[in-house]
Amino acid sequence: MHTIRKVIMAGIRKEVWYSNGLRFHCTQCGDCCSGSEGYVWVNQEEINAMAARLGVSPLTFEERFVKRVGVRRSLTERANGDCVLLDEKTRKCTAYEERPRQCKTWPFWDSNLRTPEAWAEAAEACPGCDKGNLVPLEKIVEQAAKIRI
Ligand code: SF4
Ligand code: SF4
Repeated sequence: MHTIRKVIMAGIRKEVWYSNGLRFHCTQCGDCCSGSEGYVWVNQEEINAMAARLGVSPLTFEERFVKRVGVRRSLTERANGDCVLLDEKTRKCTAYEERPRQCKTWPFWDSNLRTPEAWAEAAEACPGCDKGNLVPLEKIVEQAAKIRI
């Protein structure tokens, strides 16, 4: 059971329900890379890194794997909802080491950390939540600050 207590992070006094940390260990099931339609936001730095990982130019990577959504860019999906970078056989990310911040920071997104109920909802979709080693508050805050989702 997580208790609410006051903590001081980066000089800011905050009250968070997850101040005792949260457990997470990715089971590599691939569920978050497939299924219903969604967006995996990418910036130029991430495109460059993933392109290098896959051995193509950033321009080629963008032509093959990225779509424009207004002023933003997202990885494309296959017809079945799989992320275009998910290996269809192994169900692993083909750019794992260079995957976007959105993927690296899951499940420590603001939207999941908002309330214990929001976290429980994330845990319903992700079997890695509430499993494995305790991730300390400092690490959670660091992850959440990398991208605001
Ligand atoms: S749904 Fe959770 S456990 Fe499965 S691959 Fe994604 S992060 Fe890992
Ligand atoms: S980039 Fe990789 S980790 Fe992110 S959704 Fe696609 S396959 Fe999954």
